[in-house]
Amino acid sequence: AEADTPPSDFTTDQLLDGLLTAQFGERSCRSRYEFASYHEKKKNASHKPSPYLLAKLRRHEALQKRCGPSTAPYRAAVRQLKSGKGAAATDCRYLVSISYRGLGNRMLATTSALLYAMLTDRVLLVHQSKHDVAALFCEPFPGTTWLLPSGWRSFPLGNLRDYGSGSRESLGNMLKTNVISVGAGGNASWSDGGDRRPPFVYLHLEGGYDFHDKLFYCDEHQRLLHGAPWLLMKTDSYLVPGLFLVPSFQDELGRMFPEKDLTFYHLGRYLFHPVNDVWRAVTSYYRTNLAGAGERVGIQIRVFRKKQTPLQHVLDQVLSCVRREKLLPESTSSFSKTNASDQAVLVTSLSSWYYERIRDEYGGGRVAGGVHQPSHEGQQKWGDTSHDKRALSEMYLLSTCDVLVTTGFSTFGYVAQGLGGVRPWIMPTAPIWSETKEDVPVPEPPCVRAMSVEPCFHSPSYYDCTARKDVDVGKVLPYVRHCEDVSWGIKIA
Ligand code: GDP
Repeated sequence: AEADTPPSDFTTDQLLDGLLTAQFGERSCRSRYEFASYHEKKKNASHKPSPYLLAKLRRHEALQKRCGPSTAPYRAAVRQLKSGKGAAATDCRYLVSISYRGLGNRMLATTSALLYAMLTDRVLLVHQSKHDVAALFCEPFPGTTWLLPSGWRSFPLGNLRDYGSGSRESLGNMLKTNVISVGAGGNASWSDGGDRRPPFVYLHLEGGYDFHDKLFYCDEHQRLLHGAPWLLMKTDSYLVPGLFLVPSFQDELGRMFPEKDLTFYHLGRYLFHPVNDVWRAVTSYYRTNLAGAGERVGIQIRVFRKKQTPLQHVLDQVLSCVRREKLLPESTSSFSKTNASDQAVLVTSLSSWYYERIRDEYGGGRVAGGVHQPSHEGQQKWGDTSHDKRALSEMYLLSTCDVLVTTGFSTFGYVAQGLGGVRPWIMPTAPIWSETKEDVPVPEPPCVRAMSVEPCFHSPSYYDCTARKDVDVGKVLPYVRHCEDVSWGIKIA
């Protein structure tokens, strides 16, 4: 086979204004340089990444290449990990990202890990169960891999999924057992000058994590973590708003993201490139069903229940949002095909029932481009690659839409809005635990316009490390606010 060498004539658009490096070939990963042509710049948005961010990404790529798997520094760092000793073997330090839950959650967790790795000059390596990452995404960094090598010889810490709140090596437990301590002056130290220092620290950043694990968000603990050659980070969340709240990161974040509310927009577009078969599914579906329309309206319906029986109130909420915000043409008795709108509607949901009802309402010529649903998987499936591929292609299809209606709480919707740079109409959902009732009143209003395209961080720490007490973290910085859909969460806006 011919080598897939990079052509030298990529356009600025193809490279997303310099966000992407031109060092990759085109054929092995079509989505990388084709993404832009499906995301023509949306009205009145410049959305350019800062020169500072671009330079930082190039430096980070060089770090990934110099220290990545199969380099001498990587082998030395793994030997040191096996030895159980804490002192760093080289100047390469690593962050292993362990993500879990649905694909949206995993993508948000991975993006958070990238930003943390960039802020702390660590090599990002992603743990995958089976081959779920490689089956979905192209490599983001040129000349190396971001996949954590598997097998004891290449990475000796066993099954990373088993790490949890009880792990001895977690930041929280090491603080509790005084393996690490933070002195009165805010000086953090390892208890014994480094001899018993563990070769890695596990960061337990799941929802429901306890006081000591949340100290991750404190400056003095960040200083302490700096000395650990290896960090494992386990989360299902978008931690980025939490990182913005760490004072020592704020300068750097401000330079990287002068428009702070575009953090996921840039990082997500930088990091995620669906593999060729997923991209083929995206582009062929797009061309057949959506390309001709003047405006694409995406409706993402997520029901947080195991059984996907049709729920009338969920449908009512969608229709009520669409009518109230005039997103699609009103049904009038004088309707004729000549006043059909130049729109196409994309519905994504695990069930086909909502799609059928929406098609009954708006199909039949009312929207000229028709109403479409790419798949209806019935229910969420775990560890099923073709199911994940359909989910990924639908997130990308939604991201091509000009208008989005999304279900609150859903990370699937967050990824679509973030990649597309579209502020969605978010439909608040009743908390999961109260959804056992069939009759739930449609909230008033049925949907609200998102303040920004950023995802919501569902499980922030409320602890103010300096004041040593819990505070309202939606009030600390003007640009970190409570989310529209999750009152206890925070987002950048
Ligand atoms: P969240 O649970 O809504 O926050 O989103 P996640 O993506 O983390 O998990 C939901 C998972 O259910 C997805 O990854 C898909 O596997 C599946 N899923 C949910 N909604 C849809 C949908 O509209 N289309 C497809 N293809 N899969 C979906």
